[in-house]
Amino acid sequence: MSKQQIDTAAIIANLTTKGREAMTAIGRRKVSFFDGGIVEGEGSWGEVLTGDLGHKSSGVLVRLKALGLFDHIPAEEQDMQNGGGWWTLTAAGAAVANALAAEQSPATKAKADVAKGTKAAEKAVAAVKAATRAPRTWTVTGPDATHKCEGACGQTLPLKRFPTTKVTGQRGVECRSCRDSRLAIN
Ligand SMILES: [Zn+2]
Repeated sequence: MSKQQIDTAAIIANLTTKGREAMTAIGRRKVSFFDGGIVEGEGSWGEVLTGDLGHKSSGVLVRLKALGLFDHIPAEEQDMQNGGGWWTLTAAGAAVANALAAEQSPATKAKADVAKGTKAAEKAVAAVKAATRAPRTWTVTGPDATHKCEGACGQTLPLKRFPTTKVTGQRGVECRSCRDSRLAIN
């Protein structure tokens, strides 16, 4: 069976809470063995897997097998009763385990959403700050430097037409006359 043909969502919808938890734990490699990864044919000993999953019996594994997610190779006939032997993932089992492992738990998702929201808000605040902080000065490159006035006149004027600032080598972006008339209006 190819991966495309496995409707993992439909299978997951049929899982019990315990079955879902078990497949998630397996997908997240919280269990022993499965040495070749969460792929078809990989598995673990029944007793080990049951213990790793914190189950008292192999009931959950038996139900997962009924759903076609596991194959069971009993070591002996009596092992069938206690879930011993070797349990391996089917292609569907591997697909379901991997799908569940990739899903975020509601708590993790909520946390991620909050982090995302905080990040977006921080970004918006930073953008506003950056806009407010639009450079109000320009750097003088030499005695003959000129600058295009960012005030009403919009003219390219010589250095001396621009007001000095607190920082040496910097001048205001607005020429003196634009600044004076703006301040007079205000
Ligand atoms: Zn001007």
